[in-house]
Formats: sequence, structure tokens, C-alpha cells
Amino acid sequence: MVKSQSPLISIAVPLYNESAGIVSFHNELTKVAITATGNSYEIIYCDDGSNDNTVELVQEIAEKNRHVRLVALSRNFGKESALSAAIHAATGQAVIMLDGDGQHPIALIPAFVKAWQAGAKVVIGLRTEKDSEAFTKRLVSKMFYALFNRFTDQHLIPGTTDYRLIDRAVQQAFLHLPETDRITRGLIDWLGFTRAYIPIPRLARAAGTPSYSWRKLALLATNSFVSLTVAPLYLFGILGLIITVIAFILGIAVFIEQIILHDPLRWAFTGTAMLGILTLFLVGIILISQGIISLYLSRTHSQTKQRPLYIINYDMSARIGDTSDD
Ligand code: UDP
Ligand code: MG
Repeated sequence: MVKSQSPLISIAVPLYNESAGIVSFHNELTKVAITATGNSYEIIYCDDGSNDNTVELVQEIAEKNRHVRLVALSRNFGKESALSAAIHAATGQAVIMLDGDGQHPIALIPAFVKAWQAGAKVVIGLRTEKDSEAFTKRLVSKMFYALFNRFTDQHLIPGTTDYRLIDRAVQQAFLHLPETDRITRGLIDWLGFTRAYIPIPRLARAAGTPSYSWRKLALLATNSFVSLTVAPLYLFGILGLIITVIAFILGIAVFIEQIILHDPLRWAFTGTAMLGILTLFLVGIILISQGIISLYLSRTHSQTKQRPLYIINYDMSARIGDTSDD
């Protein structure tokens, strides 16, 4: 069996309940992919356990178009895992990843390819305009970046998106990253390589509903922190130290004022009150730091189990590459 040559570009798209928009998304993607790559492309759709008919629609598409591959996961593993599955399956000389809901402008794919051909190993879509998100979400996101960049040795640039192109070299390195709780963006940032940025406009979803709720966003932010840095551990260590010092000074002051000088300032602290305040302080610190430690422990726990990132139900890409057969 003769394998056909690897395509110039693989396009990796995670899908979760995208049946409302997938067909028009695919049509536009195909058009742009053909012009951007001179027909040397593959599209890898990873169905992340959708419970609508996304899979059936993509199956139909894949049956008609040999450039299309479908990797269907056995249940919903979350976008990060689905995206990893698609990136892992990619065989192209570069991999472009984008959302299947139309929020990452397909028309910009040629710009990504150009930047790559000009030498960048990682090309990153960068949102430059002011976003229309709710004020609270913007504030929280600002705080996240400020905290993250202040307390870690990695620098995250606000506005960078998951809309990216990575060279085959980066993809190969990505394959070797074993972590389970992953933020694809953060991992690619960690990998390094020369980068280029493409400004992208902020688009609304073409159809369907976004599946990132506040809860998921909070999880994502926590995960980013815990997966990329142990800074919170240091932070609480330092906080604990400061509070202990303050408590120590306070204790000495109260001891001198009340017990040695017999309360000339009329503080009238009872011994139990003093003890109570100090104990509360210290117990609080211990509880917080234990909470933080348990975050890390739980990750160590899931990591040591070495579970696979995702389970593939079936992979319709097996027949790809057979097309050049006699
Ligand atoms: N997605 C996925 N699994 C999930 C949630 C989302 O594969 O559990 C896909 C989804 O189909 C879309 C992309 O990930 O292609 C981004 O999801 P969404 O639009 O819900 O998130 P947001 O635009 O808010 O980042
Ligand atoms: Mg979206």
C-alpha cells in the first residue's frame, strides 16, 4: 500500500454539539483551505462526544471528501482533550487549530500559512479590539493575566487565542507532553519556538450556544495556574510568614502592655480573646495552604494514574492515504 504524501496543512477542529453550523462551517473551510494550500490539506474533525447529530453530519462530509478525517471520542472529554486528539492525529507539515463555531475567522488561514512560510514555527491569533464581553468577565480576565504574569516565570499575552498554527516540529514536541489536565495554549507557549502573531477580529458564534460557562472558565483559570506554575504555594508560604510575624509582634505588644505594664492604654484584652484571635488567624492560614496543597496533590494523583487523555470511539481516517492505491 502506497501512502500518499503528507499534506501541507492539517486543520484540527474540535466539535461539541455543533450540528447547527457545521455544514456551512465546513463549506467555507474547504474553500479557504484549497486556495491557501493548493489542495494539499486535511481537515481533522474531532467529535467530543456530542449528543446532537454532529457525528452523523461529519460522517457524511467525510464520506464525500477524502480530505476530511473524523476522530470521534467515546464521550465528552472537554475541548482541550478533543483538540489534543485532533493535533495528535494530524499528519501535515503544519497544523492549524481553530474552533468549529465560526468564532475564529476562517478567511485568515492564508495569513497564518504565510507567516509560517516566512519562518515562524508558531503563529498565534491575537484579539486586538476591545471585546464585547460583560464587564465582570473582562475584569476577571484582566486580574487573571495580571496575577499570572506577576507570580509565574511564564508570560501570557492577553488576547492570544487558541486559533493557532504550529509547525510539524512543534507538533512532534507537543506529542511528548504527558500531562492530563492540559491547556493547549499554555503548553504551546511553554514549548517555545519562533512566533508570529496575526490580529483577528472578535466574532460571534455562527450558531449554537457556547459551552463555556462561568464554572468552566473558573476551572480553566485554576487549571492554567496549577498546571503551569507552583507560584500559589510560594504565595501562601509568604503570606503565612507575614501573618506569623505580625501575630508575633502583636503578641509581644499585648504581653508587654497588658501583663507587664498592667494595661496603661486600657486595651482590656482578656487572655482568651487574644488566644482566640491568634488561633483563628493561624488555623485560617493552615486551612488555605492545605487547600492549595490538595490542588497539587489531586493533580499528582490523576497524573500518576497515567490515564490516556481521551478514548477514541472510532477513527474514520484509516482509509485516508489509501487513495493512491493502484
Ligand atoms: N468544544 C469541545 N468540547 C467541549 C466544549 C467545546 O470540543 O466540551 C469545542 C466547540 O465545539 C468549539 C470549541 O471547542 O469548536 C470552542 O467551544 P465554545 O465555542 O463553546 O467556547 P468559547 O468560544 O467560549 O471558547
Ligand atoms: Mg466559541
